[in-house]
Amino acid sequence: MTGDRKLRQYRRMRDFAATSEPRGRTRRAHTHDPHFVIQHHLASSDHYDFRLEIDGVLVSWAVPKGPSTDPKDHRLAVRTEDHPLDYATFEGTIGKGQYGGGTVQVWDRGTYRNTSHGDASEPVDVGDALDRGHLSFWLEGEKLRGGFSLIRTRQNEGSWLLIKRKDETADARRRPTSTQTESVLTGRSLDEIAAGEE
Ligand code: MN
Repeated sequence: MTGDRKLRQYRRMRDFAATSEPRGRTRRAHTHDPHFVIQHHLASSDHYDFRLEIDGVLVSWAVPKGPSTDPKDHRLAVRTEDHPLDYATFEGTIGKGQYGGGTVQVWDRGTYRNTSHGDASEPVDVGDALDRGHLSFWLEGEKLRGGFSLIRTRQNEGSWLLIKRKDETADARRRPTSTQTESVLTGRSLDEIAAGEE
């Protein structure tokens, strides 16, 4: 499926005359590690949107409790519609009554390496890993660094678990969603973004 086809649902759900969110481009030269972004989104619910660049779009999950650096935490991640690549730098407010109305903050961003593998430890392409419902990757963000997995649960197609892998970057005591609440893009808090402060 091409990037433009993948973004049909994203575009159908939004009125671009009324929201400042990007309509989205899908082309980007593959001369870099793929990007990831985590956006803190205070809307009808408070959640974190976890997005990985895969095949020209940002494949997305809504994580109600946000990411954890403790491998014992299995954080529910609900798959949502693919977003355009330029959504990764979107920060601001979405008007009341619009889809996702509320405040969006770029909580963390960076690049990632796909480390997905199969049962015989053979490497698995990131698109195939997504289809199989078992992704592993190494994040190089400003707040989060290290190995994580996203695993689809058997009970429900849209429900996945975001889990920190046990490696040297795991830390059961760190609470980055509580202690590092500023935007990595502008340094602003959610309140400052909501108030429209520069
Ligand atoms: Mn959201």
